[in-house]
Amino acid sequence: MKRILTGIKPTGDIHVGNYFGAIKPIIDLWAKHPDSEIYLFIPSMHAFTTLHDPDRLRTNILNGMKMYLAMGADPDRFMIYDQSYIAWHAQLTRVLQCLTHMGFMERMHVYKDAVAKWTATDLSVGTFCYPILMAIDIIMYDATHVPVGKDQIQHVEFARDIAQKFNKMFGETFVVPELFVRKEVQTIIGTDGRKMSKSYNNVLSFLDDENTLLKKVKKIPTSMLGIDEPKNPDECNVYGITKLIITEEEDAMLRDKYLAGWLSFKRAKDYLYEKLVAFMSPIQSKFAALDDDYVRKLLTENAEKANIIAEKKVKDVYQKIGFTL
Ligand code: AMP
Repeated sequence: MKRILTGIKPTGDIHVGNYFGAIKPIIDLWAKHPDSEIYLFIPSMHAFTTLHDPDRLRTNILNGMKMYLAMGADPDRFMIYDQSYIAWHAQLTRVLQCLTHMGFMERMHVYKDAVAKWTATDLSVGTFCYPILMAIDIIMYDATHVPVGKDQIQHVEFARDIAQKFNKMFGETFVVPELFVRKEVQTIIGTDGRKMSKSYNNVLSFLDDENTLLKKVKKIPTSMLGIDEPKNPDECNVYGITKLIITEEEDAMLRDKYLAGWLSFKRAKDYLYEKLVAFMSPIQSKFAALDDDYVRKLLTENAEKANIIAEKKVKDVYQKIGFTL
């Protein structure tokens, strides 16, 4: 039986990169393997690494839950929960921190990026330990498959390593998770041509209204090629986003137009905008129809279920490492 797990940090609104890098793969996988179990969680303890505004955090958690549901996560079939409701994560953190070498953590690219970006006084211990918490998110629940974007591969590899290490030292305890990277959507590009990311402020968010979307699409940089000149679609950021949300036939037609020089960048952007609105509006309508109290109740109920699983795992670990007499 497959147990597939993923989550999106509630540091901002869920965007197109999250959808294609995390949510869609998990929903597709579930459609292909309906007997699999899906664990879709809100990594709020990860968000707290940088987001220290309680109101924003609360709003983002609630919106994140609603987005999961609006994007097709069936609450009867998916286990949808918030990490911070499960105190056992912190208990396991201590154990795995003591089994992880400093050098290993120092090589993690998220940490190296943070060192390059921030001064020592900005950099928290939480950032340094981030991959350990992420490994726990995965191995606590015996997840077998973790669909991620390219940026998270190293972290899932770490989860595999630490699970193997523990099993070797103390006996079979954790399932070693598998990576699942969808090749064609490894990294979704944002409106500035870099990876779409909340921290780069280049995202197309599902909570953007039509006006905001239009402004963002208009700002996407393009080359200086003239209206009638042939253009390489694979070098165009507008095409890079459009291809994600159109059918194969539409894609073939669009590529032909680019290559034949029948398409201005203005027209390409108008087309992207039109397709984005059509793609997002059903999700936005479902999101708007969800009741906050219903979502809060779901969070509490599922936290109880997740806590039972996590408690069992931590008690097994405590027994094996010698904490339980
Ligand atoms: P985050 O927003 O960093 O919590 O990311 C949540 C999930 O979305 C992770 O699985 C990421 O790999 C995925 N993700 C975020 N941004 C992108 C992107 N630009 N392209 C592909 N996947 C992404």
